[in-house]
Amino acid sequence: MHEVPNPVLGNSFLEDPLPTERIETKYRRIITSIPVPESLDILRRGARVFPRVNCYQPPVVWDRAEGFQVYDAWGNCWIDFSSTAVMANTGHGHPKIRQALAEHIQRGLLAQFSFASEIRVRLAERLLEIAPSGMEKVYFWTTGSEAVESALRMARTYGMRRHPEKYHLISFTEDYHGCTLGAHQLSGISAAKPWLTHPDVAIHRLPFPSMEGTGEGTDWAAAFAADIAECPVEPSKVAAVFIETLQGWGALPFPAKYLQALRAWADQHDVLLVFDEIQTGFGRTGRWFAHEHYGVQPDLICIGKGVTSTLPLAAVLGPAQVLDLLEPGEVTTTHAAHPLACAAAFANLEVIHNEGLLESAERTGLVIRAELNQLQNRWPAHISNVSGLGLLNALHLCNPFTHTPDPQLARDLTNAGVRRGVMLFQVNRPTVKICPPLVITEEAAREGVQALGEALQIITN
Ligand code: PMP
Repeated sequence: MHEVPNPVLGNSFLEDPLPTERIETKYRRIITSIPVPESLDILRRGARVFPRVNCYQPPVVWDRAEGFQVYDAWGNCWIDFSSTAVMANTGHGHPKIRQALAEHIQRGLLAQFSFASEIRVRLAERLLEIAPSGMEKVYFWTTGSEAVESALRMARTYGMRRHPEKYHLISFTEDYHGCTLGAHQLSGISAAKPWLTHPDVAIHRLPFPSMEGTGEGTDWAAAFAADIAECPVEPSKVAAVFIETLQGWGALPFPAKYLQALRAWADQHDVLLVFDEIQTGFGRTGRWFAHEHYGVQPDLICIGKGVTSTLPLAAVLGPAQVLDLLEPGEVTTTHAAHPLACAAAFANLEVIHNEGLLESAERTGLVIRAELNQLQNRWPAHISNVSGLGLLNALHLCNPFTHTPDPQLARDLTNAGVRRGVMLFQVNRPTVKICPPLVITEEAAREGVQALGEALQIITN
């Protein structure tokens, strides 16, 4: 059949149905070819009406989902290792969230703009209870990119009130902070895209301090000192440093000592540390926020994704002296803190707390990493690294002959895993991310990784 060419992403949204081995286990059910022949019409129509940039995920037509499982309409069922895009932290359609939404819908208040409502206030108060000390205000947005964009504006405004030239920003190579103009330029990987005709020259990048291949004895404080010394801007002119608390594409944590040195430097030069916890927040790494692993306090936090596990909602959390810098109405946004998203978020936070999901994520994360390490032991030439914290994990794939990162192998493993009943998503990097909802059982998590092993067996044969 006709395959949609995709020279940018190199993935194929549409593929010929491959005869797929029948699988029926406690948690997985694959009983058709994948893609399902009957689903091809929908996939083809999708490829016709969506831009190619959107057409790169494995060719499965999602029909319903529950907890840590995703179903199509043709009897197939997957263990979800994607949490859609690392966001369905409390699982798909948690009954408590559905109930909160149903109750709210009954009131008919389905649009609200910046008018007040109790659920919005309650949610903000609850977020501030969960957040680290020093967070006094919640500036709501709809998407993670908007939250980062707004943090950028707030940070620069704060810096420039101190000194007119204090507007420089620093982020890390390979970071992802979002798709809007400012967030996109902060993102390490995409800032060099040619469409940016006038890239922001006041955004600088530090190399990400990868721990891969480094020994226990690495002096990370000295490494930070060396990196910041290379940065071509005087510290007094830096307004903020933006940090993805685990680098998302590879689930790569920071060395704690590096971030502690960065915190000390920021204090010395009155620089704001902005932690992007959009992917890492709300239990994903076994803590409410990933920065808790490092013993380092943020000045601003950006949140999104797992704050609701469902509907779009994002925010910047921070002290009043930063978040109150703009005048009332100076910036407006129509959909931020939509009442349904607030109701979903509030119920979602209750579920994380009441069901002990921080502890579950930490415990199941250890199980998953032990299983992933076994895969690496079995395929040392193909898997160069296993990384992650809690339920944000990644396999780093490499070419067995050249030993270089291999995005094609990652793509192949993603598709093969989906054919074995594990829902994965294309990262467009040399990694396969393993990020199930925090409600997954240890047994299902183990089964999912073992299925990945079966997929590796098939593609490396
Ligand atoms: N920051 C990080 C760390 C992210 O992972 C993402 C989304 N993948 C964003 C920002 C952007 O969020 P959104 O897609 O909701 O705009």
